Amino acid sequence: MIHAIGGSEGIAIGKAFVLPNWEWELPEQKIEALDLAHEFERLYEGVKQSKSEIHQMKHELDETVGREEVSIFDAHLAILDDPVFMNEIQGIIQRQYKAAAVAVKEAIDHFVTMFDLLDDEYMKERALDIKDVGNRLLKHLLGAPEISLPSDNQPFVLVARELTPSQLIHLKPDVVLGIVTMIGSASSHSAIMARAFGIPLVMGVEGKLERPIVTGDLLILDGGAGTLAVMPNAETVGRYTELRRQHLEAKERLQDLVKVPAVTPDGSRLALAANISSTKELDAALSRGAAGVGLFRTEFLYMDRSRFPTEEEQFEVYRAAAERLGGAALTIRTLDIGGDKQLDYYDMPEENNPFLGYRAIRFSLDRRDLFKTQLRAILRAAVFGDIRVMYPLITSIEEVRAAGALLAEAQRELEAEGIPCKGGLPTGAMIEVPAAVVISDLLADEVSFLSIGTNDLVQFTLAVDRMNDQINHLYEPYHPAVLRMLRSVAEAAGRKGIPVSVCGEMAGDVRAIPIWIGLGIQTLSMSVQAILPVKAAMLRTNAIACRQLVEELFALRSAAEIKERLERFHAEAAIQDGSVHPGMR
Ligand code: PEP
Ligand code: MG
Repeated sequence: MIHAIGGSEGIAIGKAFVLPNWEWELPEQKIEALDLAHEFERLYEGVKQSKSEIHQMKHELDETVGREEVSIFDAHLAILDDPVFMNEIQGIIQRQYKAAAVAVKEAIDHFVTMFDLLDDEYMKERALDIKDVGNRLLKHLLGAPEISLPSDNQPFVLVARELTPSQLIHLKPDVVLGIVTMIGSASSHSAIMARAFGIPLVMGVEGKLERPIVTGDLLILDGGAGTLAVMPNAETVGRYTELRRQHLEAKERLQDLVKVPAVTPDGSRLALAANISSTKELDAALSRGAAGVGLFRTEFLYMDRSRFPTEEEQFEVYRAAAERLGGAALTIRTLDIGGDKQLDYYDMPEENNPFLGYRAIRFSLDRRDLFKTQLRAILRAAVFGDIRVMYPLITSIEEVRAAGALLAEAQRELEAEGIPCKGGLPTGAMIEVPAAVVISDLLADEVSFLSIGTNDLVQFTLAVDRMNDQINHLYEPYHPAVLRMLRSVAEAAGRKGIPVSVCGEMAGDVRAIPIWIGLGIQTLSMSVQAILPVKAAMLRTNAIACRQLVEELFALRSAAEIKERLERFHAEAAIQDGSVHPGMR
């Protein structure tokens, strides 16, 4: 049995399907003068294939969608016919003896950078088109980088070196029994999405395998324990089949709690809301009794396409979500791109520290055009439900004010244009960096609520990259420093009389419940799968005992002591309650 990192709980037993490496691997070698003609031929063939693919898509879309979508394809075709673009590529091949694929990539980069520098919306749009069609051309020159899965609809365990969030959104949870990745960490967005889809995931098995896994190998993975067995014997298969059955049964039993209010035995309430990345997750959230959405990660709406979503497209998504929630709160977090969340069609600058870089609110305040499009869509959708806006990675009040000013400007514009919208929306600041914790009293004066993003807060408080599996063991949400940060925010918000929620993964960790209750947090927003286990634990946890426990926890000196004390607390509550803790391992 291999011990690695548990990314998403659940047991999967099935045959492996191993993904080939899909990254663009550009040939480094220069080409020989004799091969120039061949390289040109490859380029023309790639252009021909790209055009015929675009024509085909255009044809399919013609009747089903609006003109705007179809006209994008016309723009792409025009680029492939554009002599300036083609001359640039040909020039690089001919003068620098570079392969066609390398020349295409360099030409894309050249034009995208040039157009992006211009302060002209139209030209920026053209840059995106070039990137999009250029990637299509690269695909034909180098082979498809997209995931192509077996087409026979037989369930399998997906094995990959690494999965990006945008690749994960295309997976069908009904055929993917589980996922194994060579690298990765549990707080990455890929892991968060696997949890949202309820797909068991084990990560970081690189260096632990006796031999590489090949397609067809029988695998057993336990995403809760972080273990993997390759070609297990019959006894192990039998044991895990039974464990899997028990696991599914326990999950089934939790469904009985859907309609039970989330109240402690001594009357403390906690709203248990859902984190979603797409409206597809709303049905699952509602079927588990979620009290609204506390975090809508809108960046996936941007990842799931080949260009930035239009105002209209975003409006439709937000409106549908608000309507589906029937009046329950929908907290829309504005675009949090950067770090491990990249867009295929937008080149982010090369950065040494992307998590500390050009991302989240910093990106939005720099690309005000894109930000305003999103804010306009949100304001329009707000007519249809209880929508709140939340800004990610806030570090100063200037950022909150600048975002607020743009929100007001967007509202004025819509009103002047006579487009229905709703102003005065509650706005919130995410508390994800120590600076925001320290000034949470100042931020509380600027917004209507605070929401603690523990995933980033843990990484920045402890200076532990949440994506780096080598230091995964140092990523410790129960570190006393993190607990002090949490208390500081809760106290500042309490003094200012505004509500605090927690929307990082820690909110869905059953162990942490007494901390939230003890600190007086009002809302926990978590992955859909965590809602019922958290509720089950809450129903047997006394608020008064939690307040005392929090006092005790703050006197402890290490994460190990804190976790041990929490586990003891839960075990005692389970004994008193006469139940076995379904969420505890
Ligand atoms: C967080 O950082 O805790 C959070 C909720 O945001 P994300 O995980 O999307 O960075
Ligand atoms: Mg975050």
